[in-house]
Amino acid sequence: SAHGVTKTYHMGEVDVHALRGVDLELASGEFIVLLGPSGSGKSTLLNILGGLDTPTEGQIRYRGETLTDFDDAALTRYRRRAVGFVFQFYNLIPSLTARENVALITDIAKNPMDPAEALALVDLEDRIDHFPAQMSGGEQQRVAIARAVAKRPDVLLCDEPTGALDVHTGVLVLDAIQRINAELGATTAVITHNASIADMADRVVHISDGRIASIDRNETKKVASELVW
Ligand code: ATP
Ligand code: MG
Repeated sequence: SAHGVTKTYHMGEVDVHALRGVDLELASGEFIVLLGPSGSGKSTLLNILGGLDTPTEGQIRYRGETLTDFDDAALTRYRRRAVGFVFQFYNLIPSLTARENVALITDIAKNPMDPAEALALVDLEDRIDHFPAQMSGGEQQRVAIARAVAKRPDVLLCDEPTGALDVHTGVLVLDAIQRINAELGATTAVITHNASIADMADRVVHISDGRIASIDRNETKKVASELVW
C-alpha cells in the first residue's frame, strides 16, 4: 500500500512533481491496471511500490511493515524475494539462453521454481535453449515474465508489458500474466496505455498529473483472448 506518496525531482531551477500524494491499497492476489497519460507518474509509482525507487514523502507498506523504513539490505531482500518486474523492453541478456536468463533470478531467490517449470508456465517449453535473438518479441517478453515469476513473487509489477508487441502477441503475453495472477496468486499491477486491457483487472486506477483521479471496479473480468483493441 502507498500512503501519501509524493515524488519530486529537483531539476536545476525546476521542481518536477511526478507524484503529488498517492494513497493506494492492493489486496493480496488482486489484479489492478494503471491507466493514465504519458508523464502522469505511473512508472514512478510502480517503481516505488517495487522498491526500485524511494518516495520524497509518504510511505510504502508491505504486509504490515513500512518499506520506507527498510535499510538497503532489507530493501534488496524485498525486491529479490517478493517482487517480480516485467518491463516494455524485455531486458534479457543476449548471450544467455532462455533457461539461463531465468536461472539468473532463481539463483538469488529463496524458493525458486525450476527454470523449465517457469518457462512451461508461459508456454515456452520448446524454446528453453534458444537465445533472445532466436526468439520473437512476444517470446522474449514471455521469457522475461518467466524470469519474474520463477522466484514465486508475491507481487508482479509490469510496466507496459505489451508496448512493443502486436495485438496477437500482446494477447499471449497478457494471458501469461493473467494465468500467473490466477494460478500463483501474485498480486499484480500492470501499466498500460491500452484501455481495453483494463477489462482484465479487478480494479482500474486512473492516474492523472501525479494523483489518482479515480478507481473503477470491474464487475466482470475478461480473459486476455476476449480483449478487442
Ligand atoms: P509514460 O506513460 O510516458 O511512461 P509515466 O506515467 O510512466 O509516463 P513517469 O515516468 O512516472 O510517467 O514520469 C512522471 C514525471 O516525472 C514526468 O514528468 C517525468 O518527466 C518525470 N520524471 C520521471 N523520472 C524522472 C527522473 N529520474 N528525473 C526527473 N524527472 C523524472
Ligand atoms: Mg512509464
